[in-house]
Amino acid sequence: MKIIMLGAPGAGKGTQAKKIAGRYRIPHISTGDIFRANIKGGTELGMKAKAYMDQGQLVPDDVTIGMLLDRISEPDCADGYVLDGFPRTIPQAESLKAALEKRGEKMDYAIDVDVPDEAIVTRMGGRRACVSCGATYHIVFNPTKQEGICDACGEKLVLRDDDKPETVQNRLGVYHDQTQPLIEYYRNEGILRTVDGTKDLNEVFEDIINVLGA
Ligand code: ADP
Ligand code: ADP
Ligand code: ZN
Repeated sequence: MKIIMLGAPGAGKGTQAKKIAGRYRIPHISTGDIFRANIKGGTELGMKAKAYMDQGQLVPDDVTIGMLLDRISEPDCADGYVLDGFPRTIPQAESLKAALEKRGEKMDYAIDVDVPDEAIVTRMGGRRACVSCGATYHIVFNPTKQEGICDACGEKLVLRDDDKPETVQNRLGVYHDQTQPLIEYYRNEGILRTVDGTKDLNEVFEDIINVLGA
């Protein structure tokens, strides 16, 4: 199964993508996580991405598309994957479609996790991310067992630099301008499914399972 997660920054794409990946045994591919790993590792790709990410802007398509297409060509992607944070622009969606068509493949579902902007700001302020494994938590809505420590791997949690309120506003603007048009795009492709992302995170997951089946 090949799934795209759509939604504003902070809508819960990553949270749900991790659950989907666990249940359907497919890799969770987050372009944001790949960029952050490259920044941490000091790679050339990381250096290119950092300035954009710090401003809440998108990393240019020419960098992002090649990176994602390489990732989905790896052997663990043979039975499908869940994309979290890609595509974020129409050209990214078109490139993905063209690359899959060459192999006689297509995406199965684009799940839009729908959350209004007001709720996003509260979520981002309370988000804490693991520096090591990319897991995200929320100080109120999804707390860890031990404060500041990742349940999954035991490493430290941080407030991401780009989750500060000013940057969140930029990211929401970028989302509405560049990413939201993908909802219409995937509606036209016939694979759009919308879930109410304001519900409790377990309820959102139930709704997604109902969409995907079994
Ligand atoms: P969130 O989960 O809050 O939406 P991400 O971790 O997905 O955040 O993305 C963080 C940042 O990484 C984005 O603000 C953007 O700068 C960059 N980024 C991630 N995915 C893409 C993409 N597909 N195209 C361009 N930039 C991206
Ligand atoms: P995205 O990947 O779309 O940027 P995340 O999955 O990182 O979003 O979620 C953003 C923040 O909101 C995190 O702190 C997460 O724990 C929290 N969160 C996710 N889903 C819900 C939900 N249904 N209700 C309340 N908080 C949520
Ligand atoms: Zn962790």
